[in-house]
Amino acid sequence: MNTPVLEINLKKISNNVKQLKNLCIEKGIDTCIVTKGFCALLPIVKTIVSSGINFLADSRIQNIIKVKNAFPDIRYMLIRIPKISEAYEVINYADISLQSQLEIMKVYSDKALELGKIHEIILMVDVGDLREGIMPADVLETVNNIQAMKGIRLIGVGANVGCYGGVMPTVENSNQLVNLKKEIEDCFNIKLKYISGGSTCTTKLLFEDSLPNGINNLRIGEAVILGEDSTNGVFIDRLYRDAFILKAEVVELKDKPSVPIGEIGYDAFGCKPTFIDKGIRKRAILSVGRQDVRLEALTPIYQGMEIIGGSSDHLLADITDCNKIINPGDVIPFRCAYSAVLTLTTSPYVYKIYENEL
Ligand SMILES: *Cc1c(COP(=O)(O)O)cnc(C)c1O
Repeated sequence: MNTPVLEINLKKISNNVKQLKNLCIEKGIDTCIVTKGFCALLPIVKTIVSSGINFLADSRIQNIIKVKNAFPDIRYMLIRIPKISEAYEVINYADISLQSQLEIMKVYSDKALELGKIHEIILMVDVGDLREGIMPADVLETVNNIQAMKGIRLIGVGANVGCYGGVMPTVENSNQLVNLKKEIEDCFNIKLKYISGGSTCTTKLLFEDSLPNGINNLRIGEAVILGEDSTNGVFIDRLYRDAFILKAEVVELKDKPSVPIGEIGYDAFGCKPTFIDKGIRKRAILSVGRQDVRLEALTPIYQGMEIIGGSSDHLLADITDCNKIINPGDVIPFRCAYSAVLTLTTSPYVYKIYENEL
């Protein structure tokens, strides 16, 4: 077996897609599944599509182009603030983009007209998280400007929370979007198709049945691939949380002191580590490192094993209290959280195995 390897259980991902899709349909929501968290790996995309989804979103235009070439009929939304420099690709390959800057919209409009197309956009409004979006007070003036751009069509309003500021989705900040949509429709005598209410963290309102009426699109990544809503710090019932398992190989196994010997400076990543003296411990070094994965987002599956650190190429684990007998050459499993899957699927050094293909 080649290691490190990311084992991806497609049946579990399919279950998660179906569960979420059914719930969303019940509540009148057009689910958009976000593929950026796993680099839009095609076998996973194929699984999502076979599970009944035909609306996807990604932050990277390269991923969108790759998937569109394989599955031309999928609708794709670009969810990263679009760049002027990628306007041509975005208009050609993405069906919708999320926009928040008039100068950029102008370029997209001109470029779309040049290409003989009309590009659909959702206007992002900042409801408090302070990442992307225009401030609510500026919405009407912005829409007024958008109406004058003939190459783009405003089809909705959207918001993002839980990313930069860590602001939680609430009934209040979601309602703000519903009200803004009404104002825009009344003021400009137009109909907007979508209110794109948020991401995985907004599913909390869905489960509590408190998502305001009118919100009819969610952009869901984490919940589908990991059954987790990390912004709210919960696992989601009936979803698998272990569709992605990292396996890494033990390359050194020794008893060593728990505190380094000598003066302590900065580690390879600019941090000054601190240590608690637990005496001599049984330690394993595994052949996977920060170049492959964000170690903090891994959880050992073996009970009693603790990740104590790492460097570019190595993960260090304390296995003194581990309930398994471990030998050099053994392959050790870890559950992956969002940023682990993101980094593991990005690293060319990590092998991928797909299990339970549909
Ligand atoms: C990443 C992203 C999402 C998906 O977030 P999850 O937490 O993975 O569901 C939705 N919207 C935007 C704008 C994003 O950047």
